[in-house]
Amino acid sequence: MAKITLDNLAHSYLPNPISEDDYALKELNHDWLDGEAYALLGSSGCGKSTLLNIISGLLHPSKGRILFNDRDVTMSPTAQRNIAQVFQFPVVYDTMTVHDNLAFPLRNRGADASYIRDRVQQIAHMIGMENMLDHKARGLTADVKQKISLGRGMVREDVNALLFDEPLTVIDPHMKWELRTQLKSLHHEFGHTMIYVTHDQTEALTFADKVVVMYDGRVVQMGTPQQLFETPEHTFVGYFIGSPGMNVLDAEVAGDTAVLAGNEVPLGKGFGSLSGKVELGVRPEFTSLASGDEGLPVTIKRVEDVGRHKIVRADFHGIEINVVAAEGENISPDMNRVVFDTAGINVYSDSWRVPPLVA
Ligand code: ADP
Ligand code: MG
Repeated sequence: MAKITLDNLAHSYLPNPISEDDYALKELNHDWLDGEAYALLGSSGCGKSTLLNIISGLLHPSKGRILFNDRDVTMSPTAQRNIAQVFQFPVVYDTMTVHDNLAFPLRNRGADASYIRDRVQQIAHMIGMENMLDHKARGLTADVKQKISLGRGMVREDVNALLFDEPLTVIDPHMKWELRTQLKSLHHEFGHTMIYVTHDQTEALTFADKVVVMYDGRVVQMGTPQQLFETPEHTFVGYFIGSPGMNVLDAEVAGDTAVLAGNEVPLGKGFGSLSGKVELGVRPEFTSLASGDEGLPVTIKRVEDVGRHKIVRADFHGIEINVVAAEGENISPDMNRVVFDTAGINVYSDSWRVPPLVA
């Protein structure tokens, strides 16, 4: 197992990159701690697979270094990195049986026969394929083949890291949950360094203790689900995570007060002078409805009952503000204001969070 360090890493698929836009991965400095399970979360095209393939050695970065336990492996081939990687789509040997597919990485490393037999049995149990070990892989459906790929990724106990690149894409929803649980327990049992790529926030938040959020070729935040919820470091994290995402509103901020389209909003904390585009970010969970003359004037557009709570869509000068209201809360037509809980207000300058001044 290993700590993995990305040192001034950057990657462009172009032979002669010039501007930052030419880079699929912008300059990145990041440590993946030994034995931690990470989810790498971001929308399609933000550079997740590029990063994973650089870590496993399928791709060599255009700039910077990659270290395993402080040893430079930037130029080492995949085979020397001792990494297991599972891809989005199945990679299995059609002519081999399920058993031999699972045993392959162990045989390759010269493990002894009795160990292989036991370990393959254990993994087959985890992926629910004990009764299919003698089947040839040919002819099996894509989701069954993908389970074999997952099993093969998990079969070796002595790897530096396990990398999963959206591995459950072709798996049906029920089995998804089951396999994710298996991966989690595998992590508890063996303590491998794990990186699990997904574009699905629920998957990321339930799989990992730490979530790394990527946006446009950058890591914009690494944190616990709670940190991503309470203090999104970038507005992207705010609206990508959460359902609905954070409200992001243009504002002017002076000291401990914001002004939004002429309306004053107390922030509950002070801010120094801000430059660039200034915005407030407030999650719908920290936003409530009121009537009277405090808060921002709004018109309620729609109330959606989603079971555990209600989502209210309110209009503020042509901009939608989402409010989460308790299931039992009565939304009356005279509610014409939204009020922010100051504990949930974040201030952003050019999309990056500005910490409040310490009192
Ligand atoms: P993700 O896995 O987050 O969807 P990728 O790492 O696959 O993102 O892609 C990041 C960016 O690099 C995208 O703009 C994609 O079009 C580009 N890209 C990915 N692979 C290649 C490639 N082999 N050649 C050129 N561009 C690529
Ligand atoms: Mg990808």
